[in-house]
Amino acid sequence: MEDKKIIGIPKAMSYYNYFPFWYGFLNKLGIEIVLSGATTKKTVSQGASLVVTETCLPIKIYVGHVLELIEKGVKNIFVPSIQSIAPKIYNCSKIRGLPDLIRNVVKGDYRIIEATLDKSEKNNDLIDFLKEIAQYYGIKDIEVIKEAQNSGFIVQNNFNTMVQNGLGFDEALKYAKEGQVIIPPKKEQKPISIALIGHGYNIYDKHSSMDIIKKLEKLDVRVYCAYQLTREQLKGGMDSLNSTLYWANQHEMTGCAGHYLQDDKIDGIITLTAFGCGPDSLMVEDIRRKAKLYSKAHLNLTIDEHTGEAGFITRIEAFCDMLYRNKRAQLAKNRKKEDKILSRI
Ligand code: SF4
Repeated sequence: MEDKKIIGIPKAMSYYNYFPFWYGFLNKLGIEIVLSGATTKKTVSQGASLVVTETCLPIKIYVGHVLELIEKGVKNIFVPSIQSIAPKIYNCSKIRGLPDLIRNVVKGDYRIIEATLDKSEKNNDLIDFLKEIAQYYGIKDIEVIKEAQNSGFIVQNNFNTMVQNGLGFDEALKYAKEGQVIIPPKKEQKPISIALIGHGYNIYDKHSSMDIIKKLEKLDVRVYCAYQLTREQLKGGMDSLNSTLYWANQHEMTGCAGHYLQDDKIDGIITLTAFGCGPDSLMVEDIRRKAKLYSKAHLNLTIDEHTGEAGFITRIEAFCDMLYRNKRAQLAKNRKKEDKILSRI
């Protein structure tokens, strides 16, 4: 495969946060994107075979996607090192060291398109990060890079607007790539609503999450998650729980939980985390305590490559059964109260 002006992007990790931006940016620079496919059993087993057992599932999956791109003959593979997204707000060490990890475990005929985003360092801004990427393709004109940056923001903002208005991830991405913004009609009410708290790469990767959103919807549940919230709402959620921001992805966990814990339409929350994830274990403990304070039911689901689907479904069904029972009891209580008032009139 011709490697000039082609970039391979693994459909894993930051793909779920920033791909709309990469799409707009790289397209404008005339760089063709080759994506790996959906995660499969093979992706996981190949990735897992190259890293130590304790590595979290999302990283194993990422390695598997890099291998798939190499198998496809892609010579340039984008592996960013996203160190920090704001001063003193860091990603976990595995995300920060992703290019080093890939270089050390994946051998083959390819090169890593590596750029570092570290907003805790002086003079390292998004534009510096983008310049690093463009330079691999001989593009040095800062005006051209800035224009491409703007295109990236347009696609990303369109995508965000659509998911915030209830469109699914895949549909929103499809329309955003076409330059469209489609606002779907309001969805019908469901008997119960659940906030699903987790990183985009855990929730939206249908293999690792075992398509949890679809499973919940089949149980007649309305699912809400961090992608439906604005940056301000996530920040408000963090503030409401008095949580100190340290991790780059804390907004989509603690911030999201903080917002939905105060939302009356939410009957319960599910946290979905990868086994062995240090930051998540701390954040989930915080969320668990706060959920108790707000009297919201909470279920934590941990995923790794050995998680069995049957046990996963049983836990989800049992949790939803409990929420349905709670709801029925609450409605019966309210009815009794109303009857009492009516009998006095
Ligand atoms: S935040 Fe957790 S799940 Fe994500 S890469 Fe780091 S250790 Fe893995």
